[in-house]
Amino acid sequence: MNDKGIRKNIEKIILKKKFENVAVKVENKVVYLTGKVNSYDAFLDLGLRIGKKKNVEGVVNNLEYPNKERKEKKKGSASKIGKADVVIVGGGVIGSSIARELSKYKLRVILVEKASDVACGTTKANNAMVHTGIGENMGTLKQKLCVKGQQMFEKISDELNVPYKQNGMWIITTKDSLAKMKLPSFISDFIAKRIIPMIVLRRGKKLGITMNLTKRRELLKREPNITKKVLAGIYSPTYGITCPYLFTIALAENAMENGVEVMLNTEVVDIVTKESKVESVVTTKGIIDANFVINAAGLYTDEIAGMAGAREYTIHPKKGATLIFDKKANEYINHSMSMLRFPRTKHYKGGGAMTTIDGNIQWGPTISETPDKEDTTVTTEDIEKMFESYSPLLEDFPEKLVITYFSGLRACTFTEDFIIKSSKKIKGFVHAAGIQSPGLTAAPAIAEMTISLLKNEGLKLEAKNNFDPYNKKKIVTRDLSNEEKKKLIEKNPQYGEIVCRCEQVTKGEVVDAIHSKIPALSIDAIKRRTRAGMGRCQGGFCLPNIVKILAQETDIPIEKILKNEGGSDLFIGRAKCLLEDKYDEN
Ligand SMILES: Cc1cc2nc3c(=O)[nH]c(=O)nc-3n(C[C@H](O)[C@H](O)[C@H](O)COP(=O)(O)OP(=O)(O)OC[C@H]3O[C@@H](n4cnc5c(N)ncnc54)[C@H](O)[C@@H]3O)c2cc1C
Repeated sequence: MNDKGIRKNIEKIILKKKFENVAVKVENKVVYLTGKVNSYDAFLDLGLRIGKKKNVEGVVNNLEYPNKERKEKKKGSASKIGKADVVIVGGGVIGSSIARELSKYKLRVILVEKASDVACGTTKANNAMVHTGIGENMGTLKQKLCVKGQQMFEKISDELNVPYKQNGMWIITTKDSLAKMKLPSFISDFIAKRIIPMIVLRRGKKLGITMNLTKRRELLKREPNITKKVLAGIYSPTYGITCPYLFTIALAENAMENGVEVMLNTEVVDIVTKESKVESVVTTKGIIDANFVINAAGLYTDEIAGMAGAREYTIHPKKGATLIFDKKANEYINHSMSMLRFPRTKHYKGGGAMTTIDGNIQWGPTISETPDKEDTTVTTEDIEKMFESYSPLLEDFPEKLVITYFSGLRACTFTEDFIIKSSKKIKGFVHAAGIQSPGLTAAPAIAEMTISLLKNEGLKLEAKNNFDPYNKKKIVTRDLSNEEKKKLIEKNPQYGEIVCRCEQVTKGEVVDAIHSKIPALSIDAIKRRTRAGMGRCQGGFCLPNIVKILAQETDIPIEKILKNEGGSDLFIGRAKCLLEDKYDEN
């Protein structure tokens, strides 16, 4: 169908749904909406309806709605940084995977990240599952790259020396799976016990995923704490778990070892084009001339594309909250598990009770729309939703052992699939956008696909003969035997000094993190690398220790140490200064 046909279809929707002040334009199968609607819900509703239409490749939703946030354009620095072959915008798992892939070639590659560390966006706030692809809609790019990414994950994790485990996953149906359909119980039980498993197994076969149907009795033997209402269980042994921040930090550090330059605390504020071709990237630290730009800015990909005049989609964030339980609860389940429910809710995105690579259990995630790209709050409603969803799966689970919760934002487009393609408007500009779940799993495959797009765009790829795929193993004292610990402490007594009791982290590991290739210069950056503060007391014991070490090892004064990014101050000043009235409230 051509643009004219698409436009006619969209106009029908607009008329039927009585959107009076909306104008539509279609260009290269991308729908551009302008005008006004009376709420954010209406903005979403129309965008999603259009995004679902066949042949629509993107929806740019410029509709105004009450209280829409306006952003002031930030100023860049005019100083010249030099010329790069490729600039990558964003140091999440996608930007870092692409950086590592490009570091295999003789190129000058610069990765620009606005935060003080990599993995600070959505990449730090997900469930860390290395999915098989069974949960994705058949035939989508998401599914294709998820299946491929999962196959690549083990090798890359081995090379980078980061933890990865195929811990398996149960896909479960219970007597409640079809409760909302209000069918006679013998019919709903039959569908849940026989039909759904058969469909799941058939799908798995098509995708080449190993899956085994397990009888109820056997399942209850293997997972004794699961609800007795269970009807069927399909076990998927290749389901994996990773650590998303360690994985991303390792990717970025390996890319750096192989020549990629990583600029942290550097925000991209403009992209200059000439005759519809990328010319330079303007950042808060200066201008980088570049032939190619890869847009891997997560939630902000639409805004970065807009800077280049290549806006071909709009991102609408979907929040997902997760609960983390104390390790005391970790024997409650042996494998991750997800309960199927039908009909799927409006914003359904699977979820379940899952094990983490560090031995905690997590419940989640929820799913809800939010207009705010920085809204990572967790509300009482989110928490209630999680208990409501997952308690029926594990009825006697020790729920009181929750130690923390967090939320992350999915960077969704209205077409609900990944958008990985060269811009049709601007030559040299490549989108890696709409990377919602399973973006972590798909990251290695997304990187490969991006490189082939760059090649098609004319980037010359000459392989380096000295590319080193390996990262050195970092010391994690809690994983060592007593003999190994003894030897290590003899060489460096700091590895014998426990600074985080819950996670058994030593001073030596914190010092290593501070002086690593990408230095950890905030409390959270150290936490992501060492787990100090991730245990039961959530930093109650170790925070002062970490602050002290950070101040000793760097030139950051104690009162300037941040929890995370700018604005997350831990201190208001030195106590003595306050007493001496030297403290200026402003
Ligand atoms: C609740 C939740 C659970 C999930 N669970 C899973 C899971 O179990 N398995 C799975 O495979 N996937 C999962 N995902 C999806 C996965 O987390 C994402 O797909 C992935 O992290 C996206 O990575 P990214 O690099 O595209 O984005 P990000 O990590 O957000 O990285 C983008 C980066 O761009 C930077 N940036 C933005 N604007 C600029 C600018 N102007 N200048 C410079 N830098 C900029 C940001 O600071 C950020 O660091 C989950 C997501 C959520 C929200």
